[in-house]
Amino acid sequence: MDFVTRGLVDSTKTITVVSGNSGRKFTCKALNRHQGAGATLACQDCKPVRTWMGAKPVSCQICGTTLSDKFVDGATRFGPWAIMCPACHRDQALGLGTGRGQMYDLDSLEKVEG
Ligand SMILES: [Zn+2]
Ligand SMILES: [Zn+2]
Repeated sequence: MDFVTRGLVDSTKTITVVSGNSGRKFTCKALNRHQGAGATLACQDCKPVRTWMGAKPVSCQICGTTLSDKFVDGATRFGPWAIMCPACHRDQALGLGTGRGQMYDLDSLEKVEG
């Protein structure tokens, strides 16, 4: 596979690897594998960036506030999932992860945590 790296290491010490052909993105914490000659190759620790596939959400389904910056698609204490602002998600106290919730960046619609 042929990958190019675009952008640089961010504050969370992950690197973003962007496929030159499909535009698919990966994140990787193995920074040393993405320097110099190996920088354009995805390694076994590269993880695909998941992107929110639906329409861009506008407001929190729990408190109704207009979303800004980030939103969470996650389980509520009552069972059903909802699109929440980060404050409501904290209030649900279920955390992030598989079966609990995913946090997305509202601008890029890319998953940032979970
Ligand atoms: Zn990698
Ligand atoms: Zn809310």
